[in-house]
Formats: sequence, structure tokens, C-alpha cells
Amino acid sequence: MICARQVFRCCKWLERMGDRLTGAAGPFFVGLAVVLTSLGAICFFTIIQPDLPLPWLTTPPCVLIAANMFMHYYYVCTVPPGFVDGADPQPPRRSLLWATHPPASMRWNSVPASTTRCRKCGQTRPERAHHCRICNRCVLKFDHHCPVRINQCVGLHNERHFVLFMAYLVLATFFLGILGYGKALDALGIHYNNWPHAVPALAFILTYMLSVVLCLAVGIMLAWHVWGVARGETSVEAQDHEVYRRVATARDDTFVNSYDVGARRNLELFFNVGPGGYPWYTLLVPLRIMPYTDGRSWVRREGLEGHLGVRRGEELTDEEDEGEEGEGEEA
Ligand SMILES: [Zn+2]
Ligand SMILES: [Zn+2]
Repeated sequence: MICARQVFRCCKWLERMGDRLTGAAGPFFVGLAVVLTSLGAICFFTIIQPDLPLPWLTTPPCVLIAANMFMHYYYVCTVPPGFVDGADPQPPRRSLLWATHPPASMRWNSVPASTTRCRKCGQTRPERAHHCRICNRCVLKFDHHCPVRINQCVGLHNERHFVLFMAYLVLATFFLGILGYGKALDALGIHYNNWPHAVPALAFILTYMLSVVLCLAVGIMLAWHVWGVARGETSVEAQDHEVYRRVATARDDTFVNSYDVGARRNLELFFNVGPGGYPWYTLLVPLRIMPYTDGRSWVRREGLEGHLGVRRGEELTDEEDEGEEGEGEEA
């Protein structure tokens, strides 16, 4: 028993060291991501794009995809995720970066959230908020802390930019992979040996290979995230709900996630588009928009005020972190 406790403490210590290390290395990874995405864009627009047919037709979508990728990356790194103890980002009166706010009367009907007190920072926080170990603060609709790509938490105010950044990165790398195939063979010297471009052939080959790998890897992550959004779950909730489902099934009960209002509406709420939200075109232009809620009330299934199949005292909180079980965090 003592041995198990010591092993647990040792693991916790290693985990804390890991957090500190990833926290310190974060800015380096963000810098690297900016350099690599810029290199990808330079390769595409100086080598692949000039040879595309019908440039007046093919250039605008390419520029739009690149603009969305860079702007959503900028937003996801700089927009605070929504701290329980901090001010929520508000649209300025006049700004080119913000989409026009939909009329307040058309907003979704939300049910006020219940609150709990965080044992680590002492904040009173609404449902769906969780404490982030690395930021050491409670985050509204906490999804995960992403130390490698964005060096901050993904939460209520930047989750939309996070998913859209991944979507545009997958699109950009997909087109670079498909349209750059012939140029990659040229760079390898398979078609002919003189490489007339300013970017060295080796740099193009490495960028091309990285794009193909990223397209597959980020594509899988994007699919997983969109699947979660369509089910009305954050990354943390996906794990918690798995436990609730098992507990409920063990006593012949059924777990129902009360935030799940149907795949289409879950997606509309997440991106805050469609009836009552912003226009659909806001998914295609790199604009900032407000989430449908302030994180203190949530749209729920008709007639439900909480999840079904979870009894009092069975709710999982991040306090388990102090005990025997840790809350998973994804890179
Ligand atoms: Zn907290
Ligand atoms: Zn964090």
C-alpha cells in the first residue's frame, strides 16, 4: 500500500515537472509552427500556385484558405480561453476583425448553470469549467491545455478558432499535397534536373513531406474533435461521460448527456451560426465572433436540468487529481 502511494507521488512529481517543461517550451513550439506554416505558404505561392490553370478562378480560394489558417492560428494563440476569474473578451464597437453581432432577441434559450467551488484556486465556477494545472486557473468550458501548438488552454472563447484552424490547416496541406505532387518529383530530379525556384529543392521536398504527414495527423484529430462537438462534449467531458455511461449501465440505467441537443444543433451552437446565431459565411472568413453563451448558462435538451443516469455524489470533478486519479490532458 505504502509502495503504491509512493509510486503515485513519484508519478505526480514527474507530471508536474512535465507541465513545467512543456510550459517553458511552449513559445518555442509556437515559433516553430509559425516558421513552418509560413514556409508552406511561401512554397505554395511561389512554386505551385503560378502554374495552376485559370489563375483568376483558382487564386482567390487559395488566398482565402491561407488567410483563414493564419488568422485562426493567431486568434487561437492570443484570444484568452475565458478564465472564470477574468473578464470575457467583448467585441469592440468598431473593428474589421469582428463579424456583426446578431440581434440579442434572437439568441438561444439557455438554462443557468449550477456552480461548484474549485478546491485548487478557490473560485466559484459554473458547470463545464475546469481547473487547468498548467495555467493554474479555472477555464470556462475547458477542453484541454495545448502546450505544443498554441501554448494555452482551449476553452469557451477560442475553441471555435481551434477547430477552424485545424480544418484550414488540413485543407491547406491537402491541396499542397495534391497540387504539389508533380513539383515534388521535379525537386527530386525525376522529371528534369534544373530547379528554377528561389526556394531550394530540398526545402520544398521536406515541406511537402511534412504537409502530407500533417494532413493525415491533424485530419484524424480534427475528425475526433468534430465528432465530440457533434455529440455535445468537450475532450474532458468525453472521458467523464464514458465513466458515467459505465456506471449507469452497471445498474441498468441509461446515461443521457443533457448538453446534446442533436448533432446539427450541437454544431450550430459550437460555431454559433444558423438560426439565432451568426450567418453561415462566418465559417469561410477569418472573423472573430462571440460564443452563443457567456459560459454561465447552457442550452440543454428539452425538459432536462442535468444529465440523466448520474446520481448525486457520482459527478466527476477535477478534485480527483489530488486523489488517486488524474484528469487526462491532451497535447
Ligand atoms: Zn480552479
Ligand atoms: Zn491551461
